[in-house]
Amino acid sequence: MSRAKDYWQAKSKTLAIEGRAFIDGHYVDAASGKTFSTTNPATGEVIAEIAECDVTDVNRAVQIARERFNSGVWSKQSPTYRKNVLLNLAQQIQEHLEELALLESLDMGKPVEVSFTYEMPEVVAYVRWIAEAIDKLYDEVAPTGAGDLALIRREALGVVAAVVPWNFPLDMAIWKCLPALAMGNSVILKPAEQSPLTAIKLAQLMKSAGIPDGVFNVVTGFGETVGAPMGLHMDVDCLAFTGSTEVGKYFLGYSAQSNMKQVWLECGGKSPNIVFADAENLDQAAEFAARVFYNQGEVCSSPTRLLVEESIYEAFLQKVIRCAEAYEPRDPLDPSSLMGALVEDVHTARVMRLVEIGKREAKLVYGGEQVQIGASKNFVRPTIFANVNNAMQIAREEVFGPVLCVIPFKTESDAIEIANDSIYGLMASVFTSNLSRAHRVAEALKSGTVAVNSVDMVSPLVPFGGVKQSGIGRDNSLHAFDKYSSLKTTWIKY
Ligand code: NAD
Repeated sequence: MSRAKDYWQAKSKTLAIEGRAFIDGHYVDAASGKTFSTTNPATGEVIAEIAECDVTDVNRAVQIARERFNSGVWSKQSPTYRKNVLLNLAQQIQEHLEELALLESLDMGKPVEVSFTYEMPEVVAYVRWIAEAIDKLYDEVAPTGAGDLALIRREALGVVAAVVPWNFPLDMAIWKCLPALAMGNSVILKPAEQSPLTAIKLAQLMKSAGIPDGVFNVVTGFGETVGAPMGLHMDVDCLAFTGSTEVGKYFLGYSAQSNMKQVWLECGGKSPNIVFADAENLDQAAEFAARVFYNQGEVCSSPTRLLVEESIYEAFLQKVIRCAEAYEPRDPLDPSSLMGALVEDVHTARVMRLVEIGKREAKLVYGGEQVQIGASKNFVRPTIFANVNNAMQIAREEVFGPVLCVIPFKTESDAIEIANDSIYGLMASVFTSNLSRAHRVAEALKSGTVAVNSVDMVSPLVPFGGVKQSGIGRDNSLHAFDKYSSLKTTWIKY
């Protein structure tokens, strides 16, 4: 049963919010003593003062993380021991579900009910899945023949740094930190400056679950002053990043300039969703197409380019427009809200700039307006552009807001060509009832995942990540462990 708006409002008044960094098992101020404010984008109110860390704090966290790794206090525990601690963490998160959902909503504007009923339970499921997997991963013995025994074992890397974005703050943090910790690494997490609250809370839950001091650290602050020193640090073994393609490229540079640390990147997207006239259920396909507005459109794998076969173009467009109505923005604490506020003023301004460009390039058929709710102007109506050509800026650039481009196509090969004509390759969708076509098109699409008769299929069970400039490496599934381990061969002659 959903909780009323009054309930969430009252609860938000009673929250004790922590804004300090977390190093060596304790909440600490930045060494400089500096702080910055984090605000609720749906109201403009300051929620908390956050420790503004810099290179000094990063160095301290890395030193502690390295010491603890070398001590073996976590890294040398058995996988079953680590599993049990991480299962405790899942329980801790479960017990704080309301608080975490609310912090997430207040910090970055997403609808609290969606966070509470869907995203936070997904986080728990993810933690459980990774925890359960770690003592079921077997190593290998090479088929060398008599007299030789070659053991191939996964080893933890050492110190892993994770830099994450603001759109799914806790999910993204967990996607990086959990497999890294499960493997036995020490971890330093940098949340996005726009939404650090759940990462800070997570630190306390990690400690309560039994993660030893110094094995999990949170260093809060800005990209240039915390993210860059993490990327450039000579004693960080691996840098796992989720965020924009632009910043992802910086991390490759940081690695090249420092110690050649492994860099894993989950970056931007402009995902195609191809709807053929032979799709079995066009009403359902339209509902899926409108999920582009989920999380205010602030989703890397959102199906932002809707490619529709010419023969059904007009009729299908009307169906999608009807589905978009459900996503009119509302107060994020209103349990009926499916779309809340964009994360901050600067981002809203960027989204609106692209919407204005879209109005000049294509035909606006729905939305296209910024709206004020209460004191905040960070609300943007679901926006649909028709007659979009894939060469237009609105079809090429990642908007990261509630904006859908609808592009007509004539033939299957046209659709594939348009879909693949992007610098990104994160997610793609195909709606068809023709089995051969489904396989043919899925094979031809250049992307990390192809969803057939659905959109944006993400689960702990399957790898998530992109090709081209959407990134390098995969989160989720057993493949996530590949990022946080290296293979060691021990060759024995006997
Ligand atoms: P961003 O790249 O601006 O920031 C991401 C993180 O990098 C933040 O913690 C930020 O502080 C840090 N950072 C920024 N500049 C830095 C610098 N110069 N050096 C080091 N660190 C720096 O991204 P964002 O605006 O927070 O998030 C939106 C982007 O994230 C979109 O492009 C979206 O597609 C992408 N994203 C990708 C995935 C995925 O899995 N592929 C998931 C979510 C979001």
